[in-house]
Amino acid sequence: MPDHEVVIVGAGPVGLLLACLLVQEGIDVVVCERRAEADPRTRAIGIHRPGQDALDAVELGSSVRQRALRLDGGDVISRGRTLASLSFTSDRPVLVLPQQQTDALLRERLGMLSPGALLSAHAVRGVRDEGPFVRVSVDMSDGVREITGALVVAADGVRSPRREELGIAWRPRAGAGTYAMADAVDVSGDRRARLYCEPDGLVESFPLPAGRRRWVVRRRSADAELLTAAAFLDVVETRTGVRPEMPDEVAPSVFDAAQHTARSHGRGRVVLLGDAQHEISPIGGQGMNLGWMDAVRLAETIVRDRAGGRYDFRGYGRRTRRSARVAQRRSAFYMSMGRPVHGASLVARDILIRTLGSAPLRRGSAGMITMRGI
Ligand SMILES: Cc1cc2nc3c(=O)[nH]c(=O)nc-3n(C[C@H](O)[C@H](O)[C@H](O)COP(=O)(O)OP(=O)(O)OC[C@H]3O[C@@H](n4cnc5c(N)ncnc54)[C@H](O)[C@@H]3O)c2cc1C
Repeated sequence: MPDHEVVIVGAGPVGLLLACLLVQEGIDVVVCERRAEADPRTRAIGIHRPGQDALDAVELGSSVRQRALRLDGGDVISRGRTLASLSFTSDRPVLVLPQQQTDALLRERLGMLSPGALLSAHAVRGVRDEGPFVRVSVDMSDGVREITGALVVAADGVRSPRREELGIAWRPRAGAGTYAMADAVDVSGDRRARLYCEPDGLVESFPLPAGRRRWVVRRRSADAELLTAAAFLDVVETRTGVRPEMPDEVAPSVFDAAQHTARSHGRGRVVLLGDAQHEISPIGGQGMNLGWMDAVRLAETIVRDRAGGRYDFRGYGRRTRRSARVAQRRSAFYMSMGRPVHGASLVARDILIRTLGSAPLRRGSAGMITMRGI
């Protein structure tokens, strides 16, 4: 008998959500996380309808709704003119909550459902599929030990060492760019997002809870490093005419947006999940939500097959690849809209944005942003 039914590698939002779903079904789960403390990085903020449904499934929906800011809609602006304005319908609200808070809620929920299921400072060094079970080497504070699981789910992020160990190819998809981001003070109560599609490149701004607003700037090679608040604010102001209020000590962070898909959903009893399976550009802002949708699908598969002991993840693989393809195509489109562009191409882009924001297409455009059809 293996030590556990399911060993999850990685306590990011996706691994944690899967753990909660499985424990709720009476399944014995452990989550091995290499970090000793929660991830302090600022990443996801947008929670869409499919993500809200997944959070409801682990009884966290109302806690998230209480803490999150609900976006009223968004405007696409270029050179001072509003090209398109969208609102989100009440059946597809967009919630905004920094990922650290969402992660903390998931950790707390798992702790309530199964105290001790989360093993922090437990870095997985290798997995070996032995047929009826998988052997997992785990680096604990007192040395490397082995635990066994009937299944192993690798939810270990974009760089997924487990995906590499299994030799699963990581295929690039269209859509890449470099961005800088920082959070400013905004006590105006304005709940609209703004996308400035400017000739020198995209600037995005999203309201956050607690009187703050996130700014994201597409970097051009000509830009300074944008690593200080002053340099960041100068670029925002030059492109948009707006100078956010940001304390000097704020250090903008730089990230590279890229998109990839794993060639397969896993091997044998080791399954990939979340960013380990597909990377969606943060400019689409859907990677975490997609990972949660996949976690729900994976939990359904595990619950369906566990009695017979023979797991069939092919349907899970097909559905998750299809969803990722759609999300990546949309993200690549959004990124292309934010490229630096001049002359006739700029005029053509403005016309396209106006068309997408026009009355007949507006609903469809809002649906794309809120993950309809994924
Ligand atoms: C700037 C930015 C903005 C974003 N905005 C959004 C957004 O608005 N909406 C959205 O839906 N998504 C967004 N995303 C994407 C989102 O952050 C990711 O999709 C999400 O974090 C993926 O979750 P995950 O659990 O799959 O992986 P991760 O969050 O990367 O978690 C993986 C975990 O595995 C652990 N791990 C790795 N290796 C090992 C090992 N060997 N042993 C044990 N543990 C290990 C890591 O420490 C980590 O805790 C954004 C991303 C960025 C960078």
